[in-house]
Amino acid sequence: VSPSEFDPIEHLAALKSLVPAPYFLLTHLFTQVDATRSRIKIINGLTNFIRLLMLLDKSAITSAVWLSTNSIGPPYTALELGIGGSILSKALKTVSGISAPALKSLYDKHGDIGDVAFEAKVSVRTLVDPPRLSMKGVYDTLLQIAVAKGSKSQELKQKLVEKLLIRGRGEEVRYLTRTFVQHLRIGAVRTTMLTALARAFTFTEYGSDCAQDKLQKAEEVVRQCYARHPNYNDIIAALLVSGVEKLAESCPMTLHIPILPMLGSITKDMSEMLVKIGNEHTEFACEFKYDGQRAQIHYDECGKISIFSRHLELMTDKYPDIVDVLRSHRVILDGTRSFILEGEIVAVNEVTGALGSFQSLSNRGRKGVQIDSISVAVCLFAFDLMYLNGESLLDVPFRARRDLLRSSFAPVPHKFAYAESIDATPLDQDAISTFFHSSIESKCEGIMVKLLDSIVATTTTSTRRTKSLLSTYTPDLRRESWLKVKKDYDSAADSLDLVPIGGWYGNGRKSNFWSPVLLAARDPDTGIFQAVCKCMTGFTDAMYKEIKAKYDEGTINVTRLKPADFETPLTPEYFWVPQEVWEIKFADITLSPIYPAAQGIISDRGLSIRFPRFIRKRDDKGIEEASSPAFLAELYQRQQSRGTEDQDDTHEQ
Ligand code: ATP
Repeated sequence: VSPSEFDPIEHLAALKSLVPAPYFLLTHLFTQVDATRSRIKIINGLTNFIRLLMLLDKSAITSAVWLSTNSIGPPYTALELGIGGSILSKALKTVSGISAPALKSLYDKHGDIGDVAFEAKVSVRTLVDPPRLSMKGVYDTLLQIAVAKGSKSQELKQKLVEKLLIRGRGEEVRYLTRTFVQHLRIGAVRTTMLTALARAFTFTEYGSDCAQDKLQKAEEVVRQCYARHPNYNDIIAALLVSGVEKLAESCPMTLHIPILPMLGSITKDMSEMLVKIGNEHTEFACEFKYDGQRAQIHYDECGKISIFSRHLELMTDKYPDIVDVLRSHRVILDGTRSFILEGEIVAVNEVTGALGSFQSLSNRGRKGVQIDSISVAVCLFAFDLMYLNGESLLDVPFRARRDLLRSSFAPVPHKFAYAESIDATPLDQDAISTFFHSSIESKCEGIMVKLLDSIVATTTTSTRRTKSLLSTYTPDLRRESWLKVKKDYDSAADSLDLVPIGGWYGNGRKSNFWSPVLLAARDPDTGIFQAVCKCMTGFTDAMYKEIKAKYDEGTINVTRLKPADFETPLTPEYFWVPQEVWEIKFADITLSPIYPAAQGIISDRGLSIRFPRFIRKRDDKGIEEASSPAFLAELYQRQQSRGTEDQDDTHEQ
């Protein structure tokens, strides 16, 4: 029901005895959410649920939020359950008494490990019912599973999984098991959860009939708070203590908690960039667009350094050489006591400083890298400063942020540099073009164009731009104040970041591998994966082997039946649990009678791509950062307008 028609008090009377909040309340919500595709209904369900918990058992809210968002902690804490297929099937056998062949045939029948567990457990009878699971109890046990380390950790994890399964009843078993494999398949994605939190706290504070603009403002406050401080524990604690209105102060940007990165908008070429960036007086910076790994570096007054990836994972361990440069080469000037800096880490030739390829950087281990075993040197090209000496710089225009960046550090040749850049206006086309070509010659991907000062809309009609554009740092937002001009756009070749969601057996030489692979875009509002294409080009044999090992038959990473959150008319041999992002190049985007991606955005047909080719795994992106159907549609429209322009050119000739 709509939140304004929902009266938590009414339900509270019936549930009063149920404290601590039982897990079955949450799984009841999951079954409701599972049964709908309506984002409004999902938001309403979550909102009402949080309101109920606020009255029933506040201490359960964070557990419920983590459990609903298919995670156990923020990305930068690297908490992973690490429950593999073998732990899970052993636990299921112990708990239900089912034999291995019976388990396998159930899996073949259902194709979903949650449904298998549900059926295996449903017939188990016990003399005395074990005590019911609470939301907090389930979440705390998952944390114990995640932190289990050492030689006995597998046994301990299995014991804890069994403990939960023994106490789970009916639907609880289904969702517990889906949680173990981190594929809950309900649409409580981040944006939905943040909206629900904002609404629940606003309704509780101001009543169910509070004004729409109050709700919208609250949603924006909560979204912004998450973009600066992406940790539900802290956000919910702050909301409970001081409410939505004071959230920005009570849960601010904090050192060693990564902020979500600002994103750049694509442009198809230089002339589109020049139109987008403003009128002929607009000043902007053009910077090399380096092909490395984006890094956000935090430094506090005690000298602690944290390096985060674009995907918010802590990767300080991966770059001991960057830590060493910052610490021992006097890069950080005396007055610079604390900061959050952003830059691109790029492989370089230590002697000449020539830039290396992204590939050479990706050979480096992911963690625990020893400084004396490093074979590929790197340089950090700093391009932004978001925090300095205790002050947030997010609302400071780029020109001033860049001045502070340049006066706070001392570059060290081939180790720490500022991104190569020139300042320009749209009148400097020759200089921009020369700079663009020198970026390509230096093995960069093109240029980033950044507005130096905010533009405030004027009523003048003679200028090309009449809308306002901020040059502040906007976490998690794609604004036109950061434009990407890539070399590939010239040749009409573009790339998408897609999620592999299934595979067919290959033929001939590839008969032991998955080929083709079904790829999907992900809708960030619903969490639904929409199939875009099949891909069978661009894989090395090593990659084929890696894919086969990961999505092998009989593992919990594959399933015969189509998961509810997949939209695809094609049925591969096996569907795969979504867990990674692949960069895929293609020739062009076409309207498709088969594929459902972006259906309804451009027309009643979906979109697909021709000649898809695997380029690389995007380890720096999680599935939440995969290309969205809306992005695919945007690329399609660009391509169409490019086509029209080409035709116009032909007519003129
Ligand atoms: P997006 O970040 O927009 O989702 P993406 O991760 O696929 O897309 P690109 O489209 O290649 O990345 O462009 C943005 C990326 O370019 C940044 O995330 C950053 O890693 C990289 N980059 C390299 N040089 C710069 C620079 N000078 N300024 C900003 N970003 C840069």
